[in-house]
Amino acid sequence: RAKTLGKARYAVFDKEMHEKAVSAMDIESSLRTAIERDEFELYYQPILSSETDRVIGAEALIRWRKSDGGMISPGEFIPIAEETGLILPIGEWALRTACRQAVVWRDMGLPEITVAVNISARQLQRQDLAHVTQALLEEAGLEARLLKIELTESAVMADVDHAIAIFKDLERMNIKISVDDFGTGYSSLAYLKRFPIHTLKIDRSFINGILDNEDDRAIIGSIIAMAHSLNLRLVAEGVETEAQYELLGKLGCDEIQGYYCSPPVPAADFVAYVQKNHELQPANNTPRGQPV
Ligand code: C2E
Ligand code: MG
Ligand code: MG
Ligand code: MG
Repeated sequence: RAKTLGKARYAVFDKEMHEKAVSAMDIESSLRTAIERDEFELYYQPILSSETDRVIGAEALIRWRKSDGGMISPGEFIPIAEETGLILPIGEWALRTACRQAVVWRDMGLPEITVAVNISARQLQRQDLAHVTQALLEEAGLEARLLKIELTESAVMADVDHAIAIFKDLERMNIKISVDDFGTGYSSLAYLKRFPIHTLKIDRSFINGILDNEDDRAIIGSIIAMAHSLNLRLVAEGVETEAQYELLGKLGCDEIQGYYCSPPVPAADFVAYVQKNHELQPANNTPRGQPV
């Protein structure tokens, strides 16, 4: 009996595996043409200073709108883009687009906003990440200090010596580095001290429980204290309620990002959010920072 059950389970497993593989192949082949067809878009999520409650940054988050109108989330296609190497042209597109957008905002006279772009492990592996970034900054006409590069803890840890070398190049260029999803990997702050990084983004899984779980609150409190002693700034991601926002401010977290402030939105909506947040009058006779 156990044998038949076992067989049945394998059959289901195989079918699921097969469906997954087929859909990954579908995604791969349409990803190949998506850049040429201009199917990607960047959304921007505001990042607020907890000291002033004002927007000081934006995280650029990629969206893929297929020709049939369907939206595919990065969680579905970024892993496939990484496996196939397509992340290299897609990542370069994202970096170029975010830099251009930041120039549009700067030239509109918005308050200074730092744009953070996610970079995958595969992009970091390249020897020339710093050169590519420099070239894109120059092409767009953006000051390096207005760009931030986000890398996950696991991407950084994949090849530590290489990561440190690239980070030093970026640091010399005045580009800031954030470690994304901090706390989900195996690195410790003592270890990260070796890296020239600027910001830690505390993973949202730690934020969920801070109101009702004393341990979670204690963990966040000690991460903040240690990070500050290493001169790192802290961003909390995934902040969904006012109570979390207030508590994180009290705990000394420097910056807040999450649905409580705003979900990621198209460029024009981001401008409207910044104007409202900074109590600026939206100019009626000028375009609202068209997406680039
Ligand atoms: P991430 O860099 O950690 O980005 C934060 C994710 O959390 C985003 O998901 C954002 O929409 C979501 N989020 C923000 N606030 C909240 C909240 O309050 N509650 C909840 N539940 N979620 C929140 P998104 O846009 O689906 O992106 C997922 C991941 O895809 C990103 O995680 C990043 O790792 C990757 N990604 C996005 N854009 C790019 C890109 O241009 N290049 C690369 N390499 N990766 C990207
Ligand atoms: Mg990120
Ligand atoms: Mg994250
Ligand atoms: Mg994140």
